[in-house]
Amino acid sequence: MRFLCVDDSATLRKIVSMSLGELGHTVVEAENGKAALDILASEKPDCIVLDINMPVMGGIEFLEAKGKNAVWKAIPVIVLTTQDEEPLRAKAMGLGAKGFLAKPFNKEQLTAAIRQFAG
Ligand SMILES: [Mg+2]
Repeated sequence: MRFLCVDDSATLRKIVSMSLGELGHTVVEAENGKAALDILASEKPDCIVLDINMPVMGGIEFLEAKGKNAVWKAIPVIVLTTQDEEPLRAKAMGLGAKGFLAKPFNKEQLTAAIRQFAG
């Protein structure tokens, strides 16, 4: 599968990329929602792993923009949340997020979330 990992933390992106890479998946990285939209304009990932709190364009704004595009709308999203982003879960879910993964997470939890929410 092809993944798009959207997070402002380079360390987090590296963890996701390495974990998914070991499973044979391809990962494209974006540092914020705007960069992710730019990537979506030219390629279509099978699943998006999305952070909420990011500069320039956060996860909620990204979900709003993604939902307005008929093609992008169908791409499943797994949201990475920290404790303070907890109230935003319902909002993200209302905007089409399929699954949630609490930070910090390990490779097994990430793999399980992908199996459960992205097939
Ligand atoms: Mg962040």
